[in-house]
Amino acid sequence: MQELTHFINGEHVKGTSGRFADVYNPATGEVQAKVPLANKAEMDIAVAAAQAAQPAWAAVNPQRRARVLMKFVDLLNRDMDKLAEALSREHGKTFPDAKGDIQRGLEVAEYCIAAPQMLKGEYTDAAGPGIDIYSMRQALGVTAGITPFNFPAMIPMWMFAPAIACGNAFILKPSERDPSVPLMLAELLEEAGLPKGIIQVVNGDKEAVDAILYDPIIQSVGFVGSTPIAEYIYGTGCAQGKRVQCFGGAKNHMIIMPDADLDQAADALVGAGYGAAGERCMAISVAVPVGEETADKLRDKLIPRIEKLKIAPYTAGDDVDYGPVVTKAAQENILRLVQTGVDQGADLVVDGRDFSLQGYEEGFFVGPHLFDNVTKDMDIYKTEIFGPVLSMVRAQSYEEALGLAMDHEYGNGTAIYTRDGDTARDFANRVNVGMVGVNVPIPVPLAYHTFGGWKKSAFGDLNQHGPDSFKFYTRTKTVTSRWPSGIKEGGEFHFKQMD
Ligand code: NAD
Repeated sequence: MQELTHFINGEHVKGTSGRFADVYNPATGEVQAKVPLANKAEMDIAVAAAQAAQPAWAAVNPQRRARVLMKFVDLLNRDMDKLAEALSREHGKTFPDAKGDIQRGLEVAEYCIAAPQMLKGEYTDAAGPGIDIYSMRQALGVTAGITPFNFPAMIPMWMFAPAIACGNAFILKPSERDPSVPLMLAELLEEAGLPKGIIQVVNGDKEAVDAILYDPIIQSVGFVGSTPIAEYIYGTGCAQGKRVQCFGGAKNHMIIMPDADLDQAADALVGAGYGAAGERCMAISVAVPVGEETADKLRDKLIPRIEKLKIAPYTAGDDVDYGPVVTKAAQENILRLVQTGVDQGADLVVDGRDFSLQGYEEGFFVGPHLFDNVTKDMDIYKTEIFGPVLSMVRAQSYEEALGLAMDHEYGNGTAIYTRDGDTARDFANRVNVGMVGVNVPIPVPLAYHTFGGWKKSAFGDLNQHGPDSFKFYTRTKTVTSRWPSGIKEGGEFHFKQMD
């Protein structure tokens, strides 16, 4: 069986802790590799290498740093199919979806080629006699990121592309469920000319995460994953004096107004609810039709679409709609939550519980589920299921539908389907959710805007990518200078207005 490694100081390094996790092929249920789980001593080696390499990298001019990312983007395109294949094999998502995962990360690397422009700083000439003031954005030093299983290419790139562009060293602790692609990305960065020690991948679980959180040299921690872990990392990291941004779970509502094009809305719901087996933080998991007539019509349009979905391994072709979920535990948890929905009185109008795929009976497949008449008190409404399960909550008015999205503890993404500009504008302005779609079901912002939720979906002030990322990965220093010709005789004892 394949034994994966860490990538420390430019080398593939075997784990020395003696602890490993199994990496599955979710389509077959077989263990295909084992990944080492680092201890503190292994993290210390990576941190020391990062600390030694970072000052020279920060001294490289930003345009040259950007050129490394330009080359990296070329290499991603060169190896796109190879990366996507490795990604699908460990994650289970379809081949086109795996390419999308890489593509969306690639676009962040492309955006970060703007580093020379983004890092220019500010300058005030003649703020007083002979006095000039300038501010610059300097790298933090050694930075780190902890990423989830569901986007093993895109989310590491959200973090390391700006971190590196700003002159930092970056240590990635990827998900132990699908660690191969992050290792391949680090290799490609080095092939693109990144010096050793600037990108490192240390595989692991809580022990490696704690080694990051308590390391005094690591200046910042980025996290994307579930909300309980986000809260733990945010609290612990901040208490250690680090700069921390954490992005958590979601329960994204889509509101369907009576005037919406219901065929478009149904198509959108099926893609956004069941794509990637529902394992997206921006998946739509709650449909809120407004009015009984809208709800009945929408349900009639959804059922045949859902029943037609092609669920198969990525190897079955590009027309597969979704593949298996990531682990047996995830599969069991989804089915357990479906059962709570039935027990608590929701109508299971599409029942995927008996789904099985010939030849892949041991794979972690979950059939599609649609619940109708879901209410706010049910577990399937309150909990992030992270599987192919869509809940319909019927609302009698726009205000009631808006209130549902507003009152939910998560606030990652939401969407409204309507032809009415007034309603759409009101929704976008009032809803307390970080990313809003108007007739767009998964409103993931492009690389040059920022990505981030509200409420229990995000902790920290700055979002991912876009201009915020250059702020997160640098700190501002402001210099006030006066040359001798501007200095008057005698000391100054009081704060005063500039002459
Ligand atoms: P997870 O929280 O289980 O794991 C995320 C990372 O945390 C992994 O690297 C894991 O090794 C580490 N980790 C797990 N348990 C830990 C512990 N006890 N202490 C310290 N570290 C620990 O999440 P996941 O299952 O990999 O990913 C799915 C979750 O991520 C969902 O909740 C999804 O909504 C969320 N997500 C959010 C966003 C966003 O931008 N808001 C994006 C993608 C995924």
